[in-house]
Order: sequence, then structure tokens, then C-alpha cells
Amino acid sequence: TEEALRQSQKMEAVGQLTGGIAHDFNNLLTGIVGSLDLLQTRLDQGRTENVARYIDAAMTSANRAAALTHRLLAFARRQPLIPKGVDVNQLIVSLEDLLRRTIGETIDLQIAAAADLWWTLCDPNQLESALLNLAINARDAMPEGGTLTIATSNVRLDSVTADTPALSPGDYICVEVTDTGVGMSAEVAARAFDPFFTTKPIGQGTGLGLSMIYGFARQSNGHATIDSRVGQGTSIRLYLPRHQGGVAAPLGSAARTTEHAF
Ligand code: ADP
Repeated sequence: TEEALRQSQKMEAVGQLTGGIAHDFNNLLTGIVGSLDLLQTRLDQGRTENVARYIDAAMTSANRAAALTHRLLAFARRQPLIPKGVDVNQLIVSLEDLLRRTIGETIDLQIAAAADLWWTLCDPNQLESALLNLAINARDAMPEGGTLTIATSNVRLDSVTADTPALSPGDYICVEVTDTGVGMSAEVAARAFDPFFTTKPIGQGTGLGLSMIYGFARQSNGHATIDSRVGQGTSIRLYLPRHQGGVAAPLGSAARTTEHAF
């Protein structure tokens, strides 16, 4: 059938992509073996100059390889989602220090928390890892520094205003992560949610970050969108469903907990 054909084409694509990852991994191993080889030659000759450099190079490659496998494993055994009522403003505030350390000192972090944000129903651990991944992407997009803004808002979609066909009418919260970085071309933006799609150098990108974020949003009955302009920056929006049974965050509490609230 047509469905079976599509499935087999998909499997073929996954096979090719996995081959690409294996290729990256192999390159990293080659780097490690090469450095160790040089190191051994030096030591055999009783010379110690540059020894630290070879050790360093081997370590760097090994760490990249480890990061690659960790991300692949995390992707392979994606945790089951355990949704709960979440106060997203609170979650962002609790991540603030880690986010700042992730983006470094050349990037300014702004948090624009809606004071009366609804609670949402989603897996808080997955939301945290989504935000960290978005911060890493934003950092990579702003090598010369810039501003990373995380904004939250309530979104009410009725059947008339629902211009996002992927979302059914209802109440959502929106978490918007915006950078002032290099931006994406239309071609890159169109593929950025695909698993294994990356424009980053070998060992630095797996192309899994945005696809995991998209999967998380869809599985949470929400949605994720990209809005990007080359040379101007990128906004990734996560729409997550309102937690109907939940208690709204006390008015203004989020604004008080961060000095960056607008
Ligand atoms: P990775 O970061 O490992 O490449 P992602 O799935 O997170 O994987 O991103 C896929 C691609 O989308 C990136 O390689 C990059 O080209 C593009 N991209 C993602 N986030 C941004 C951003 N904030 N600014 C510009 N390009 C981005």
C-alpha cells in the first residue's frame, strides 16, 4: 500500500541519516587515535614538548563523541511523557541560572513573563530540556553576542481565530524563545524540525534538538513553530495546552520573581 511505501522510504532515510552519524563518530575516533599515536611517538622518543596539546586534542574529540552518543541514546529511548500541571513562569525562573551559564556573558537574557499566565499540562522535565536546547541553539546563532528573550503569554484560540491549523481551538500558553542571531534561510527553517537535520560542523550538531522539541510539543497536544530571518534572528514558539483543572499563578508573582519581566 501507499502507507507501507511511505514507511519504507522513511526507514531508508533514517538508515542514511544514521550512517551519517556513524561517519561523524568515526571521524572523532580517528582524531583520538591520531592524537594518541603522536603522543606515543613523542614519549617513545623521550620528548615531552607538545604532549599536553595531544592529550587535549584527544580529550576534546572524546568528549564530543560522548556528547554525540548521549544525545543519540536520549533520542532512541525517549522518556515517556509524564504530564503535570506546570507553572511555566516558575519553571523558567528556576532555570534562569543554568540558562545564563549556558549562553555565557556576551548574551543578555531577558525574561518577559506574563503576570497572569495559565498553568499548562505538560512534562516539566521535557520542557526544561527543550528550553536548554533552545538556549544552546540561540548561543550558537549569536557568536558575537546578542539578546535571548524568553516570553510567555496566554493564547485563546477559538474556531474563528484559529489560524494555526495544527492546533484545535482551545486555551494554550505560548513560550516564545527569540534570539538576535544569524537567523535561518527559508530552506533551513523548512527542515529544521527534521530529525538529524543540522548545518553545524561534525561533532557539534546532531540535528536532534529541534526535532525532539517538536515531538514534545505535538505529544503534549500542542505545537511548535519557527519564525526566522537571515541576519535578524529567530523565534521558536511552543504552544502548550492550558491545564484546565489547575490554579492560575497568583497575579504578578512571576513579575516579582524576575528583574527582567516587562
Ligand atoms: P543542531 O543544533 O544539533 O544542529 P537542531 O535540531 O537543534 O540541531 O537544529 C537544526 C538546525 O536548525 C541547526 O543546525 C541550525 O541550522 C538551525 N537552527 C536551529 N536553531 C537556530 C537558531 N536559533 N538560529 C539559527 N539557526 C538555527
